[in-house]
Amino acid sequence: MPSLYIDGTWTSGSGDPAEVINPFDASVIETVEQAGPDDVERAVAAARTAFDDGPWPRTPAAERADLLRRVADLLVRDKEDIARTETLDTGKTLVESRIDVDDVTAVFRYYADLAAHDAGRLVDTGKPSVVSRVVHEPVGVCALITPWNYPLLQLSWKVAPALAAGNTVVIKPSEVTPLTSVMLVRLLEEAGAPPGVVNILLGDGRSVGAPLTEHPGVDMVSFTGGLATGQAIMRAAAGTVKRVAVELGGKNPNIVFADTDFETVVDNALTAVFLHAGQVCSAGARLIVEDSLHDDLVAEIGRRAERIRLGNGLDEATESGPLVSAAHRAKIEDYVASAQAEGARLVAGGRRPEEPDLQKGFFYRPTVFADCRRDMRVLREETFGPILTVERFTTEEEAIALGNDTDYGLSGAVWTNDSGRAERVARALRHGTVWINDFGPYVPGAEWGGFKRSGNGRELGPTGLAEYQEHKHIWHNTEPAPARWFTSGGAR
Ligand code: NAD
Repeated sequence: MPSLYIDGTWTSGSGDPAEVINPFDASVIETVEQAGPDDVERAVAAARTAFDDGPWPRTPAAERADLLRRVADLLVRDKEDIARTETLDTGKTLVESRIDVDDVTAVFRYYADLAAHDAGRLVDTGKPSVVSRVVHEPVGVCALITPWNYPLLQLSWKVAPALAAGNTVVIKPSEVTPLTSVMLVRLLEEAGAPPGVVNILLGDGRSVGAPLTEHPGVDMVSFTGGLATGQAIMRAAAGTVKRVAVELGGKNPNIVFADTDFETVVDNALTAVFLHAGQVCSAGARLIVEDSLHDDLVAEIGRRAERIRLGNGLDEATESGPLVSAAHRAKIEDYVASAQAEGARLVAGGRRPEEPDLQKGFFYRPTVFADCRRDMRVLREETFGPILTVERFTTEEEAIALGNDTDYGLSGAVWTNDSGRAERVARALRHGTVWINDFGPYVPGAEWGGFKRSGNGRELGPTGLAEYQEHKHIWHNTEPAPARWFTSGGAR
């Protein structure tokens, strides 16, 4: 079945086909067609025409919202099929994939409601003869480039607000996990998206992502992925001064004060870092623990980490799946080696699993390092894998300083029963999301995004819609008259 969708038609790509691999056992799930340079041109041209001449940007917002609601209904209908595909493609557990589909559905509904009520605003100029208003218009053709860890979820955070605002889009999912993005485009087609409004190109960053970023026909690039790619995209987009929104990595502190309930914090610290094998931008990979609690907490977390059940994401008994690829596991092994070489103390993991049925896949045991220093590579860089590093602190000021000592600023958490302290620390952390006595939840109505090198945009919430809008000021003078600024040559 063709896997590219351009101008309302499913089509074959002129690039080399690619095998999509199941990370559980390295088997081939499907071979997909990929785009060549001519497909990039055709998709941008289709989106351009649909934006410049087509009905979509001029369709009333309430009708665009109806389309998003139909997509949400179709997601509910196909939930199990989509969730299974996401698990096959990414390795994550089926429970997680089902949650992802529910969250994606909620995002479509949220932006449908928001767009239907988004009417710009009037500005008081103090002049009775002037009507000054700010109207919201779509940006244009948006390239949506997404990563492999939450393929469908990350795409929904872009495509739902982009369409709600009246843009047309060219989607470029990760070449590692493209399958559910194709499924979502099929649902958008079924829901009635007009030709050219939604296009999808499969292929890698070099041959499809980069040309989209440089293309003069593209008005905006919305990207989620790694720091180095984000930097390359910002540089490439500078040539055409297009709008760029980048959501990048994180090195997220999870700060624990000793007055927290022990069982609650052990349990949550494990989930924070080892969910989806640590391949989460907001993973709580840096555990920062008050001195008096440190030794007991490290011992218990290490003991429980050793007991995490790895396996096939489709097996309901599995607690964590594999890493996404052999190359990514090699990167994780390199981080483990560097941590040991720099003197971190291995408390758990640090090896591949021994079970015979896990040998074909890209598994790695949940790993815990204690006695970590801020200058270690494993602590400064985003590993994006199942590695927890532990640091210790004595005072609140020290905890805050450690939590902010990173180039990233995506998310962080503080655990304490002292609500005054919780608020102080939450306000002092320079991260886009801070959880107090929790780790990981988000809602469609609250903004998501990074400080510092974690990114420059915001997804979700009203700001997530504004990213895909131009805010135009219209000044209407209802009683025009000569201003008589220049008086020398003019009539008096
Ligand atoms: P990646 O940067 O390798 O790739 C992301 C996407 O960019 C892929 O579709 C890829 O093909 C494309 N790409 C690669 N080079 C490109 C180029 N030169 N021009 C245009 N596109 C290009 O990232 P990844 O490995 O797929 O994902 C993991 C990263 O994503 C992690 O750093 C993680 O923290 C980050 N992430 C961030 C968030 C967030 O909300 N901030 C969410 C999920 C993932």
